[in-house]
Amino acid sequence: MQNYYPPIQVGNFKQGEHPAVEFAARLKKEGIQALLEPIGGFQDPAEMERILEEGSCDLFGAARAFMADYDYGKKMQEGRGEDIVPCLECNKCHGTLLEKNPDPWITMCSVNPIHGIRFDLPKLVQQTTPKKVAVIGGGAAGMRAAIECAKRGHHVVLFEKSGVLGGQLLHADYFDFKWPVKNYKDWMIRQLGQEKVEVRLNTAPSAGKIEKEGFDTVIAATGALPVLPRSIEGLKDENGKALYPTTWDTWGKEKELGHHVVIIGGSETGMETAIYLLRAGHKVTMLTRQDKLAHDASRLHYITMSFVKQDDATHAHEAAEWERYDEFTGITKATTLKVSGNTAYYKDADGNMQEITGDDIVICGGTKGLEEDALAFSEAAPQFFAIGDCMPGAGNIQRCTRQAYARASMI
Ligand SMILES: Cc1cc2nc3c(=O)[nH]c(=O)nc-3n(C[C@H](O)[C@H](O)[C@H](O)COP(=O)(O)OP(=O)(O)OC[C@H]3O[C@@H](n4cnc5c(N)ncnc54)[C@H](O)[C@@H]3O)c2cc1C
Repeated sequence: MQNYYPPIQVGNFKQGEHPAVEFAARLKKEGIQALLEPIGGFQDPAEMERILEEGSCDLFGAARAFMADYDYGKKMQEGRGEDIVPCLECNKCHGTLLEKNPDPWITMCSVNPIHGIRFDLPKLVQQTTPKKVAVIGGGAAGMRAAIECAKRGHHVVLFEKSGVLGGQLLHADYFDFKWPVKNYKDWMIRQLGQEKVEVRLNTAPSAGKIEKEGFDTVIAATGALPVLPRSIEGLKDENGKALYPTTWDTWGKEKELGHHVVIIGGSETGMETAIYLLRAGHKVTMLTRQDKLAHDASRLHYITMSFVKQDDATHAHEAAEWERYDEFTGITKATTLKVSGNTAYYKDADGNMQEITGDDIVICGGTKGLEEDALAFSEAAPQFFAIGDCMPGAGNIQRCTRQAYARASMI
């Protein structure tokens, strides 16, 4: 036998891609007499059935699947694969062990709100009688709140101002490497149907309209929108109109951009957009004033966005995902001061002015929560909550899920 190391990769697998299965299949082919149990990212019962039928292995090891959904085994036994809550593979269940100040007692889950707080639940969950609940906004927070309220027996109406549910999660419809997020979004949309939530698309109700309909509770989940940094000159015209697209504007519109895209701002979500554009054949230059690309990614997420290159079985070395692309350049410690036409003017690490011209400039300048839009509903019903990215603080799916569950438990 020669090299039997599986090709080690830590991130960015395509859906259904399992190097450990290939490894097991190779061992099987060699006639190894042992039970073979690949591990890593197994959750989909149909996929596992197929792999077993192909004879590539004998059983599967799974852990995160059972944390994402405590009823995983039950649903699998009942043949309800479509109801299993999809795991995001965000690894928050591993806690903060790779962070600077690790706490061995913290574990949480982006999609299972009670993971890590199960023993506090009797204090949190209140008894209830059926109520009429309005949820404003159909993103990660609003959809999950609507589902949790409906499960508690309430009549729920979900208002979404656009023609489609998902909010920021819609990025995963375009970024093929975010398929776990897309699966979770699609699961929520299915659950809204199953729980008989009344969804009103293309509807942004006024507070008066909500008041007139006589809801007992309003949950506002109006989310956030990208902003253009004020510190950069030239991003708006004299009427305050944006002159440049944000990274969000590029989703599904990558063909409208010229070949060389200069992205100003290098956060994790900006980097994901960069990878999306690179995969679509663009050349991308990213400017960030930070000393590291995707500086805001957690250590664990940073690893998941990276991969292990393997020159041979024993000499593996780590490299960031973006290093795979010849057409990517990341310039750190670059403070952009001005944009004009398709040129960005920035101060480099040594304080010298530099410029870079692309076919298009795209801005990744962070987001602003739509808090005022949410608070506009604060007196539209006897009970009011605001959840998700509309409220201050860094937003993520885990926070949306827990806030949705916590508020629903109080109704
Ligand atoms: C590119 C990108 C990648 C990301 N990746 C991850 C990730 O991998 N993991 C993670 O945990 N988080 C990730 N996030 C963050 C995460 O997506 C957000 O924190 C979360 O989706 C926010 O959900 P939300 O419901 O609070 O708001 P939003 O998603 O902003 O949804 C708000 C919704 O409310 C609607 N709305 C607004 N006002 C009204 C109104 N007046 N009436 C009716 N409807 C209204 C909007 O149209 C929208 O659909 C990512 C974000 C981006 C942009």
